[in-house]
This record gives sequence, structure tokens and C-alpha cells, in this order.
Amino acid sequence: MVKNDPNLIDVPEELFETAESRHFEGETVLGELAAGPDTYRFAAPVAWSVDITNTGDALLVMGTARARAACGCARCLEEVTYDLEGDIEGYFIIGGADAVAPDDLEGDEFSRLPDNHVIDMVPLIVSALLLELPLVPLCDDACQGLCPQCGANLNEGPCACASDGGAAAGGPFAALKDFDFGV
Ligand SMILES: [Zn+2]
Ligand SMILES: [Zn+2]
Repeated sequence: MVKNDPNLIDVPEELFETAESRHFEGETVLGELAAGPDTYRFAAPVAWSVDITNTGDALLVMGTARARAACGCARCLEEVTYDLEGDIEGYFIIGGADAVAPDDLEGDEFSRLPDNHVIDMVPLIVSALLLELPLVPLCDDACQGLCPQCGANLNEGPCACASDGGAAAGGPFAALKDFDFGV
């Protein structure tokens, strides 16, 4: 660990021997995470644990990140919580800027280990958790959402608009159509 920053792993010297492996774990405060139009909030730090293994050419970082994320339901805005467990995967090529990247890896599948030998866990944790988030956050697949006219939460029962079928069908001013304005 790097002093004062629990999100950084200072790779120890012994991990630069091929086939060496070490275990690391910690907690990372994320606060909020934007995923498309949605923002997920974390009330507690994200717990993570990884094994870092020297493959000869690279340091392979593998493990898990666990967190509870909260987001507003896309239909009714009620808070929904998700218990997430994502796979952390990182591949950091050793040897500085001159190191040759493996032929079988795309550019976005690996990083280069920085010269200071420090690995920032935050991007790895964010990638792991993003993969676990739903495409659309819903409190329930059958969520009825909000009434477009009065804003009532329809999961709590029908609103006045629904019982007055004519008004619901004709919009908020439908009730006025029979009103004699005296013109
Ligand atoms: Zn909902
Ligand atoms: Zn309504």
C-alpha cells in the first residue's frame, strides 16, 4: 500500500520474479458512479480483494469488488439497491514504455505498469462494477411507474385519474370540454 492512499498498490520488489503471487485487499470510497443516464450512490466503501501474479511479461491482477449501490427506479424514482459483486481483471505489462505488447491482446485489454510500480485500483474497480449494473434500474420489472398526469406512484394503487376514465383519456383539460364558457 502507498501511504495515505488505500486505492494504490505499490508493487513490492518480490513480485518482479516470474510466477510470484501476492494477495492484496482494501476498501475504496467511490461515492458516486455514473453509468449512462443513471447515477449510482455508494453508502459504504467498496470492498475489494485481488491476487497479483507475475506471468513473466506482465502483472496479472484478478479478484473481486463487492459493493451495495443505490439508484432511483427509472419509472417510479423510488430508491433501488443492488448488491454487486464484480470481477476485477487487470493486465499490466512490465518493462516500461519499451516493453512489447503481446500480439494476442487488443490495446484496451492491457496497461503498462507505471515506472513507479504503483497500480491504481480505482479504474479496475469501476470497470468491474459497471459490468454488474443493470441496463435500466427498476424497482421491479412490473413497476407501474408514475401517473403522467398527477404524478402519483401507481405501484401504491390507482390514482384518481384512472378511476375517471374520461379525464385520463382526454388529458388534464378533458373535464372542461363540456363546460359552458358562455360564449
Ligand atoms: Zn419503480
Ligand atoms: Zn393520476
